[in-house]
This record gives sequence, C-alpha cells and structure tokens, in this order.
Amino acid sequence: MVASVPRQYLIDAQQRRIRKLRLSVTDRCNLRCTYCMPPDAVFMSPQHYLTAAEYATIVAELVALGVESVRLTGGEPLLRPELPQILAALAAVGVPDLSLTTNGVRLAGCLDLLAAYGVRRLNISLDSLDPRTFAAISHGQSLEAVQGAIARAVEHGFQVKLNMVVMQGVNDHELGAMVEYAKHLGIEVRFLEVMRVGYACHLPSSQFISAAAMIRRLELHYDLQPVPQPPDATSFNFVTACGAQIGFIASESQPFCGHCSRWRLSADGVLRACLFKEAGVPLRGLDAAGRQQAYQQVLGMKPVVRGAEVHHAMHQIGG
Ligand code: SAM
Ligand code: SF4
Repeated sequence: MVASVPRQYLIDAQQRRIRKLRLSVTDRCNLRCTYCMPPDAVFMSPQHYLTAAEYATIVAELVALGVESVRLTGGEPLLRPELPQILAALAAVGVPDLSLTTNGVRLAGCLDLLAAYGVRRLNISLDSLDPRTFAAISHGQSLEAVQGAIARAVEHGFQVKLNMVVMQGVNDHELGAMVEYAKHLGIEVRFLEVMRVGYACHLPSSQFISAAAMIRRLELHYDLQPVPQPPDATSFNFVTACGAQIGFIASESQPFCGHCSRWRLSADGVLRACLFKEAGVPLRGLDAAGRQQAYQQVLGMKPVVRGAEVHHAMHQIGG
C-alpha cells in the first residue's frame, strides 16, 4: 500500500491559512467611482495581462496548496475580452468555488457565460438607487442596466450580494431604501466603509461613516439579529424579523486581519498577501520551482495588523 502524502497548506506564522484568492483579470473599468479611481485613470497595457494559460497554471498550484475559493475581480472583470477563455481555463482546473465581483453594467449579457463555467455567486456593486447620485458617484449613467442585471441574475438562480460603499452626505440617506430593495429581491446587501486605499485617500474624511454609525441608524427602523459568520468572513451580518439580510464590511473601524485568509493576484501577475501592503511578488517569468518559492515568500508578507492607508490603486491590485 502506498502511504498518502499529507496535504500541504499555506499557513503563516499567525496560523492564518490561505483559502481565498482575489484574481484580477483587468485594471480597466467602464465606471470611475469617486473612491476608486480618477476620471483620467491610467491603465496597464493589455500586453502585460496574464493569459488564460498563466492564470490556470497559478490557480492550479494554489488549489493544490489548499485555496478553495477564487473570486474574479478587477477593475471591471467583465471588460476583459479573454474572459471566456479565462473562465474555461479555471473551470478545467476545478476551482471548488468560483465567484465574481462586478459593477453590473455589462452583467446581463454575461450571465449565461458565467453560469456555463460554474460561477454561482456574484457580488454586485450598487452605491445608489437614485440615477443622479449613481452618476455622481460612478460617473456613469448605467443605473437602469445595473438594476436590470441584478434582477436577471436573481431570476437566473445566482446567489447575489449587493455591495454599497457608504459615504456620509453622498448616499448615506439611502441605507433604508437599499435594505428594502435587497429584501424585495430576497438577497443580502452589504454596507462597506470607505477604505483608505489609493484614490480614496483623497476623499474628505467627513465622508467617512463607520459601520457602527450605520447600525445605529438602521436600528431606528429594524430589529437587527446577529447571524454567525465563518471566522475569516470579511463582513458581520444581521437578519431582521421582516426578512432583510444585512452585512457590514468595516475594514477601517474593525479590521479583520487576525483571521484573514485572502491573497490577491493582480492582472499583471503580482501576488500580494494584503490589500494594505504595497509590496508583492511578481510571478511572471518564474518556473514552477520559482513560483513555489514565491508562494512561501508571500506567506511571510501578510501583516499582523492593518496599515493606516496605502497609496497603490485598488483597481490595479484587484478589489
Ligand atoms: N469593478 C467591480 C466592482 O465595482 O464591483 C470589481 C472591482 S471593485 C475594486 C471591488 C469592490 O471594491 C467594489 O464593491 C467597490 O465598491 C469596492 N471598493 C473600491 N474601492 C473601495 C474603497 N476605497 N473602499 C471600500 N470599497 C471599495
Ligand atoms: Fe470601476 Fe469597480 Fe472601481 Fe467603481 S469600484 S471604478 S466599478 S473598478
């Protein structure tokens, strides 16, 4: 009988096991959210983007090291022309859980493609239900298209979560409306604190609103009952008696580094242990042995406590 080789996992000195990968497929976007990138954002040349085959090689190695969940992101992932090939390559690897974060602008036309390659979970960003506020935040006119795509994704059977970045004096008056909107669709809404990453560092601090302040406001109208989450969850969640599902991502006021299980791979192949750490390790050009060394190097790069802010751009790292 051949003795089975014990599986190797990616576990750092703080006993944090890497289970999740945010995989950026492009740094480009068809919106310009005020907290993410400037109107004149500069992007990488597409020739620097990883190919479908390169993604497949890296993801297969990371899955073998215990990564269970891969979330495609960007920039706006649905803008990458080679997305079908990338999805096919990842499906062939057999990623246990494949999901995607999108601004929803192009989503309606991509639902069949995503379903065909095993994507079941979608996080869709929606910062306002008001066309003028939506346009003021995103510099886009596509609210109707995004709302249409959300409804179709739900009908299609995707597990959808809405992400709303909440800014005081901009869209914070819509907390209740967003809860009702998500409840009506039977899906979860998550309210995000603005993180001090990249372009968001330029926002006036008066726009920051903490999850605790959001909860105080919602408690005036809803009875929030806590829902237990896995230790490495980014959000803490509640349900209400009327069936609303509400989460909060409080990276600023309640950082979750102690249980973080995420790595990020940028569209040009730089692997990072943390969104709040500028340094990463470029995987491009490395052979298999070199990549294994790189994974061990990145394992030592996850901070124990979160940095106050970073100036590299969220859309270039992979949000
Ligand atoms: N373009 C896609 C989208 O908007 O969903 C995917 C990439 S985007 C960088 C991923 C998520 O990060 C979105 O939900 C977006 O709202 C959020 N995000 C971007 N910059 C942020 C910031 N400074 N603070 C909090 N959330 C941010
Ligand atoms: Fe684009 Fe997403 Fe950044 Fe908004 S948050 S500008 S949709 S990448």
